[in-house]
This record gives sequence, structure tokens and C-alpha cells, in this order.
Amino acid sequence: MADLPNKRDAFIDWYLAVVEAANLSDKRYGVKGMNVWPPYGLKARRNLDRVLVREIEATGSEAVEFPALIAANEFAKEKEHIAGFDAQVYWVTRGGLSELDVPLVLRPTSETAMYPVFALWVRSHKDLPLNVYQIVNTFRYETKTTRPFVRVREIHFFEEHTCQVDEPAATERVRSNLGAFGRMAVAFCLPYLSLRRPEWDKFAGAYYSIAFDIPVGGSRTLQIGSVHHYRENFSGPYGIEYEAADGSRRHVHQTTFGLSERLLGAIVAVHGDQKGAVFPSQIAPYEVVVVPIPTAGAEDAVERASREVSERLKAVGRRVFLDGSDERPGAKYYRWELSGVPLRLEIGRREAEAATATAADRLGRKERIALVELEAAVGRLLAAFDQELTRRAEERFREAIVPAAALGELVGSETARWIGWCGVESCGHEVEKAIDGALLGTPEADTVAPTEAPKACIACGRTDGVRWAVAARPL
Ligand code: ZN
Repeated sequence: MADLPNKRDAFIDWYLAVVEAANLSDKRYGVKGMNVWPPYGLKARRNLDRVLVREIEATGSEAVEFPALIAANEFAKEKEHIAGFDAQVYWVTRGGLSELDVPLVLRPTSETAMYPVFALWVRSHKDLPLNVYQIVNTFRYETKTTRPFVRVREIHFFEEHTCQVDEPAATERVRSNLGAFGRMAVAFCLPYLSLRRPEWDKFAGAYYSIAFDIPVGGSRTLQIGSVHHYRENFSGPYGIEYEAADGSRRHVHQTTFGLSERLLGAIVAVHGDQKGAVFPSQIAPYEVVVVPIPTAGAEDAVERASREVSERLKAVGRRVFLDGSDERPGAKYYRWELSGVPLRLEIGRREAEAATATAADRLGRKERIALVELEAAVGRLLAAFDQELTRRAEERFREAIVPAAALGELVGSETARWIGWCGVESCGHEVEKAIDGALLGTPEADTVAPTEAPKACIACGRTDGVRWAVAARPL
């Protein structure tokens, strides 16, 4: 097989080649932007979902499922929201041969599906908080060039929607979501920025929005998730109100937390290298691949040892693939490296006779392990692999965002930039013009800005009330 395009010089080509060669997504479906999940890619997505479910349920959220179709009149109730989504909506206007009396929207997100029902569920303060999430497909008529996982028209989407008694409780839910995302990102070995979006770039209908961004080469960044505080912006129009302890009627304050298959794109983009994909152990379709190396006279011993290793690891819950195909060992190594499997166990005559295996991780580190301690050794090697994957990603992350002191430095910048910003919108737009991108926002407590304070606003030179912000070119 041909070499992959160079990741540094031709990032998009490299990304598309890895997604295809590792069999993560098939874009040859007959509807643009709607891709097929083949078995290997679907395994990765399910592992990713498992992490999302584990961490959100640990915060007391419960799974629900709402219909994919939304009545047009419900969809139109919150005006800013509808203005933000109108151009991206797929409409269903016919049922069989009849025009529908009320046209239907294929959900681009589920506020307008859920909130009329929340108004029925929430009656009293005893019904609060209401914290629910769903993992469903959403549909957006995306007009830019579509890319697997990153920009698609049918999106595998995680969305939490909550109702809280008041504004402080909603702020607390936002903080809880930021903590949950932090724990998810540990599983993805993924350093990220947590940034409060400027007013002009918040989610349609939100009081404020916090988004998670990652650098993906040059001055490019990718938004991989977001948390929004809605205040009463939706509970007013949708009539979600409750009777407080003192008998008064009040609107709930709402929050949402959204993530998508983009996370898989981010994992490919950040960890992948010139040999292909690299999966963190919790996301990898297979954590371990066992490769028998048969030599004349030792075929049976090698096969027996390989099968034993595979079965013992499966018995302790490891995701293992025993590659007993007829390919040469070198071809197998190549394929499983391309597919991003964290750990390969090679078993040949020497290993079979000594009851050992040669362990090679996807970052190129090798050691012999004794089969008496197989399960423990694999656990230790996978943990060490995740740790090193994280360390390397953090090192690149630090180099990917460099402080800038003058607008001129943003022009044609080869990295994302930390800049001093006074908070005034016109200064923000000057920054955006200079970098030909966006002012992504100011860091939340879980994001480490440069240690020294910014000296002045990069646009107007003001020195009071200046904060660090990130400027970049969103992918
Ligand atoms: Zn300014």
C-alpha cells in the first residue's frame, strides 16, 4: 500500500487517508455527508459512547430518547434559536401521498423536541433538577465541504438537557459538565481548551456558551463539544415552570451539554502519525492484537500459546483480536499499526518455548513479558501507553498556542495565539480580521493560560481589565 500523505504538510489529505485506510468510515454512500459506519469504526464509536455514558451517569444524568421529528410550530417558538438553525434544517412535508398539515423538522438538535414535554414533566420544585441525556442522530444541512466525523449531515450526537431551580443551580450544572468532560478527555488522552465564547459567537438562544477546542495543526482548531447556560430563554417560550416551596410559580433555568462523533475525528487528528491511526486504550476497537509467528516445527506450540494468550485476556474483559490469517507477520504489523491498535503481542518459537510474549506498543516501545503475569503485564503496558500518548499530545498542545503581542503577528500565523483582550467586541473583530479566523474566547478555570498576565489589549492597547483569549482559525 502507498504511504500516507504527510501529516504536517498535507493534514486534510492525511486525515482522509487514515480514516479510509483504517476502515473507520465509508463515505461512498449515495447521500452527501451521510457516511456508513463499518464494523471497525463502529467499535471505536461505541467505546467512545461508553466513556460518555459512564461519566455523565456518574453525575446523576439519566438516558432518555425523544423522536427525530419535530412539529414546525414547536420548532419556531424560540426566535434566536430558530434564526440560528433555519438554514440547516431538513424538512419533512409529505406523509405518503398527502401534504402534511403541520410540516415536520428532522431534528438538528433536540431543544424543541424535548421542551414541550419537559413542561409536562416539571410541575413542582420536587421534580428538579431534571438531568437527562440522549445519544441519537441529528441532521443538519451542512453547506461547507463535508469531512468524515468532523463535518457531516447526519451526526451521531450526545446531548444532555437539564432543568434547574434557579440561575446558581444552572451555573453549578455547567461546572459539573466541565468536570465530566475533563474526565472524558482523560480517557481520550486529549488535552483541550475550555473557552467561554464571546457574545457574538454563542449558541443560538444561549445566555452564555463554553466550548472545547483542540489545535489540529497550524493556526487551525476544531471545536469538539460545548456546554450552554440558557437561563430562562427556552423555559419562557416553552412554559417550563414549577411551583416553588413558597407556592410561587417560577421558570426553570436550563443547561445543555453537546458532544458528537467529532471526538473520534479529534482522536484520529491528534494522536495519528505517519503510520496511521493511534487509539487510546479505552477507545481502541481492539486493545491488543495477538500475532502468531509460526516457524517450521513449532507451528502447533505457537498456535496453542497464541490462542491461550487471547483467551486469557478475553476472560478478564480485554478487547483482543487473534490474527491467525495467512499474511506475513510484517504485513500484519503494518495493518494493525495503520488501524491504531495500542498493543501487539508477538508469539514465535522462542516465546512459545519460554512461556513469554514480545509486547510492542503503537508508540514503538518493546519488551518481553512472562505469561505467568500476562493479565497484569497487559494492564500495566496499556496504562503506560495511555500515559505516554497523553504526554506527547500535551507537549504538542503547548507548542500549538503561542502568545502574540501585536496584531501584525496574527497575520499568517503558523499557530493558534494567546492574545490580551479588553472584552470589547470591536477589538475582538479586529483580532478575527488579523488572523482570518475567530476569537474563540476566554479560558475557563480548567484551562491553563500563560502564567504572566497579558500586558494590554492587542487591538486597542488598553491595560485595565485585560484578559487572555485565544485567536485561531476554526476548521
Ligand atoms: Zn481592546
